[in-house]
Amino acid sequence: MEPLLIAANWKMYMTTREVREFFRQWGNDPPPPGREVVFFPPFPLLPLVRDLMPKGSALGAQNSHEAHEGAFTGEVSCRLLRDVGCSYVLVGHSERRHLFGESEERLAGKFRAALARGLRPILCVGETLAQRQEGHTLDVVLGQLAAGLGEEPPVKGFDLAYEPVWAIGTGQVARSEDAESVHEALCAWLRGRGAGTDARILYGGSVKPGNAAELLAQPSVHGLLVGGASLDPLSFRAILTAGA
Ligand code: PEP
Repeated sequence: MEPLLIAANWKMYMTTREVREFFRQWGNDPPPPGREVVFFPPFPLLPLVRDLMPKGSALGAQNSHEAHEGAFTGEVSCRLLRDVGCSYVLVGHSERRHLFGESEERLAGKFRAALARGLRPILCVGETLAQRQEGHTLDVVLGQLAAGLGEEPPVKGFDLAYEPVWAIGTGQVARSEDAESVHEALCAWLRGRGAGTDARILYGGSVKPGNAAELLAQPSVHGLLVGGASLDPLSFRAILTAGA
């Protein structure tokens, strides 16, 4: 059984001073048994977080480019991310899909490149409010899953995050039974194809200390992807230890 993965997505927040203060308060306590923690800071903060985070924590990048290297101003390769100590990378976060227009094809390329270059991608999927209200949730998330994983879904080496778009940064969390039914559908899709045998499926969208334990108690929820609440060491620590 893989450890539950609790991920901090710091988006475009934090400065060097704030990172130092975060880890001063975070301390050196390891995660509870059976849990793993990973930090996704903005690119320039990766080396500082690598050096300050407690041993046994993991480092991840919020985005990557699919090429090995090249004339791609403003982009960052998986090769460099590995070089600075990343082991994870987010692929297809809803902000990348919706604000930066990243296509399914582009995301599939990023996913493959990350795997090929030794990073563990976390492919993010999730429906908009309109899609949920029209009853299309499963079509949307399974479609994003199939597109992201490509023609031959890998047997292992990646994780997924189910992040309903309407729940990200809105304070509106999915009901745990609704999250569970989507997670179960994602698990069944993988099982049916012999894919992602070590994949965890994280839930993301307004996770807070008060709702983390109930979400983690769902059998198909294997971790959490936390935005806003991960910026505060006390609330992120409460999420990391919720229900443990
Ligand atoms: C996220 O950034 O992936 C996220 C889920 O954000 P929040 O927890 O703030 O909703």
